[in-house]
Amino acid sequence: MKGLGTFIRVLRLAPPHRVVALGLLMLVLSATEGIGLMLLVPLLEFVAGGLGQNPIAAAIIRVLSFFGLPSDIRGLLSFFILLIVFRAGLQFLRERVSVVLRQELVDALRTNCLSNLLHAEWSWLAKQTRSDHVNLVMHEVSRIGAGLQSGIGLSATGTAVAAYLVTAFVISPEMTVLVAASGGMIYLLMTRLRRHAHALGQEQGQVNRAMMATVQESLSAIRLSKLLGNESRHLQFLTDSLANVRRNSIAFALNISTARMMQQVLGAVMLAFYIFAGLEWLKVGLPELLTLVLIFSRLTPQFMALQNQQNQLLHMASAAAEIFDFLDESAKMAEPPSPAQAEQWPVKNAIELRGVYLHYEGRARPALDGIELTLPACATTAVIGHSGAGKSTLADVLTGLLMPDQGQLLVDGTAVEGTERKRWMRAVSYVPQDVFLFHDTIRANLLWGYPEASEQTLETALRRAAAEFVFDLPLGLETVVGDAGLRLSGGERQRIALARALLQRPSLLILDEATSALDRENETRIRAAIEALHGDLTVLLIGHRHATLQHADNVVVMETGRILRQGGWDEIGVSDID
Ligand code: ADP
Repeated sequence: MKGLGTFIRVLRLAPPHRVVALGLLMLVLSATEGIGLMLLVPLLEFVAGGLGQNPIAAAIIRVLSFFGLPSDIRGLLSFFILLIVFRAGLQFLRERVSVVLRQELVDALRTNCLSNLLHAEWSWLAKQTRSDHVNLVMHEVSRIGAGLQSGIGLSATGTAVAAYLVTAFVISPEMTVLVAASGGMIYLLMTRLRRHAHALGQEQGQVNRAMMATVQESLSAIRLSKLLGNESRHLQFLTDSLANVRRNSIAFALNISTARMMQQVLGAVMLAFYIFAGLEWLKVGLPELLTLVLIFSRLTPQFMALQNQQNQLLHMASAAAEIFDFLDESAKMAEPPSPAQAEQWPVKNAIELRGVYLHYEGRARPALDGIELTLPACATTAVIGHSGAGKSTLADVLTGLLMPDQGQLLVDGTAVEGTERKRWMRAVSYVPQDVFLFHDTIRANLLWGYPEASEQTLETALRRAAAEFVFDLPLGLETVVGDAGLRLSGGERQRIALARALLQRPSLLILDEATSALDRENETRIRAAIEALHGDLTVLLIGHRHATLQHADNVVVMETGRILRQGGWDEIGVSDID
């Protein structure tokens, strides 16, 4: 069956003992269901006046005496109650195992996706969109969760149906063959309806996605649409996509109702036919026939449930295929493994780029073209150049995030390759223009850089980063910043990020356009902080304002992926790249 393969692949992520436990519970439950139904035969026999004539009834009476129960109606009823209690306990256990299994699998899928994303090569990640990843990890995995529920339900219903059929077969093989043949016919009769339901289900995913996109876009563009005066156009888009969702939902509901109606009518016709055939042609005894009728009337809703669950499972299959494709592809794009512990990598002489060439896919020109660069240890180097010159790409290669297509990154003559790459990445700190702070306290944000830092170390780092303003905040280091936290100015955020970078005790500190978006006062503070680091640390400054970069020992001018000039400020003769 389609979808089953995916279901099994998802199940293989679960601890095997839980899957086995669930399977066993389902089997035992089905067996108890069958036994419960068979109990009806002696009960009805008793009502009809002669207990123990039928071979099934005789077998059950032997079971009763085995358990020390009397061979009469009291024994039968006691056994029935015991069976129901046992069954209820098992059912509870099955629910428990299946809900735990489902949650564990959803967690495993989310963790695997996130882990692959966190460990994937930056060059691959940079080509993807973040909203796709969010959709995958949250929405698609939830769909798999719902599908799993159906898959587990399908297995439960399947075993129950098998139990009914086996029980029926034991009671009357001829009647069971008759029912199986007629049931198969009904199943075929309803094929078109089923296909339609499946198509509608697939369409449901598309129309819902389209509606979500419309709502999201309208909300993000509120400001723009106010200014353009086209609110009504947005509303029209929304009305159109809502109409699609509505049409689909109504058609889906009507399809299910039609199926139910057909099954009820056909079910009643078939039941009448079974009773007639049993009594007139096959001469089945009344207790057996009544038991069979009960079994067959129970089978109809079970078949319906099987169909629904199968549809849901097919739904899940498309989400699971997407997740597995992503997991396979991202696993291929994995970075080399990280060292177990963050090790220092002190730079004694220099960090060098030799013959570095890097070309982004789909771009006409290489972003870096034959770069030869030396960053002497404990010196400050500035890289300047127009937008698009390749400065950020150069920084990404220096951090080890991007591997050049040709050429090498060398630290004191050692090539940063293979397992050394992750070790080097940990030894580099990078402060971008738009810094990221976690929605947490300033302390937690700082400890991210160096978890064992003492109070004294934190204070020193803040002072070195010219971030003393933290001490004047009413809650000090305990102030919550980030998304919904205290609103800090760009400069304040940047200084906290600089303090965090310094706590990492980096071998190379890269500051990307650190002051380009700042007001004069903040710029002066950051500049002072950078100047104070001079001579202590190997620093790379990326920017274009002369004032910020004036203390650099060495200036590199880039243009279209190449180094035009390098040397001291006097040698290169540039005052301000703007
Ligand atoms: P700068 O930092 O000097 O502005 P970048 O290093 O960001 O320059 O970009 C250098 C060139 O590479 C530009 O032409 C840019 O459009 C291109 N580029 C940068 N990142 C990517 C990417 N992920 N995919 C494709 N092209 C890119």
